[in-house]
Amino acid sequence: METLYAAVDLGGTKIAAALGNATGSLLHTETIPTPPGANPEQVLAAIGTLVDSLSARAGRRPTALGVGIPGLIDTRTGHVHFVPNLPTQWRGVPAGAFLEHSLRMPVRILNDARCATFGELLFGHGPEYPSFVLFTLGTGIGGGVVIDGRLRLGPLSAAGEIGHQTVQLDGPICGCGNPGCLEAIASGPAIARAAGFPDAESAASAARQGDHRAQRAFHTAATYLGIAAANLVTSLHPDAVLFTGGMAELVDLLLMPVRAAVSERVRMFPAQGVAVRRAAAGPNAGLLGALALNIAPTKLAL
Ligand SMILES: [Zn+2]
Repeated sequence: METLYAAVDLGGTKIAAALGNATGSLLHTETIPTPPGANPEQVLAAIGTLVDSLSARAGRRPTALGVGIPGLIDTRTGHVHFVPNLPTQWRGVPAGAFLEHSLRMPVRILNDARCATFGELLFGHGPEYPSFVLFTLGTGIGGGVVIDGRLRLGPLSAAGEIGHQTVQLDGPICGCGNPGCLEAIASGPAIARAAGFPDAESAASAARQGDHRAQRAFHTAATYLGIAAANLVTSLHPDAVLFTGGMAELVDLLLMPVRAAVSERVRMFPAQGVAVRRAAAGPNAGLLGALALNIAPTKLAL
């Protein structure tokens, strides 16, 4: 019988969970709303219940669990240090140990954007590109850096925060506190604000229909995203710069101008071999990455 792995993608509004196999097929999935106002123990207990319920459906237990969490996560220790999108404080929460104890299986935890990168590494374009950077575009801008087939994590598992590069001197203050981060200029909410629309989705449709202010907002976002991508190409010379996000249209509108910026701004070596394209793993990249944590842990540069 093939080995089953459990995967959980914790978000501010929903918790997605799945059981899958070593080839990245998600066999059973379930999504519940994130319990509103819940403290860390309650959220972790909800994750445990989800995994139990999926196990009951499959008729057997998975061998291990991988979890993606949006925040500062120490993958070595399984501790969660900061989760900006959940209502209660997660300071030094031993989430890995808690889940290992309640589910009685090995548990690995990783930041959600790094998890999406890891999913791409194993089950997306990863096999084509030994080194790549991935931008996750949405409410925030996250990402990950893969060097020679392994996900770079750094001493705090925090390497790859490519949305928090300074790209504009004296730019808007970012959620992280620094002025001029890419996220403060090119995230979905930043684009919507600049375009004068309630969300990035309506701003994108307006831009497509010829609304000048919306087009300008996307142009600005793409310009800065292009600077960030070009900086990474110059620093790392990856095989590819990949983009993913909940909103496909947002990625489509930004891809062409980012390509142009990279070819314009990378002057130190010919960069036309660097692919700039949409990631392949799609909306399930986070779950696939969580699944991959226990399938190919040696690809984590811990
Ligand atoms: Zn920032």
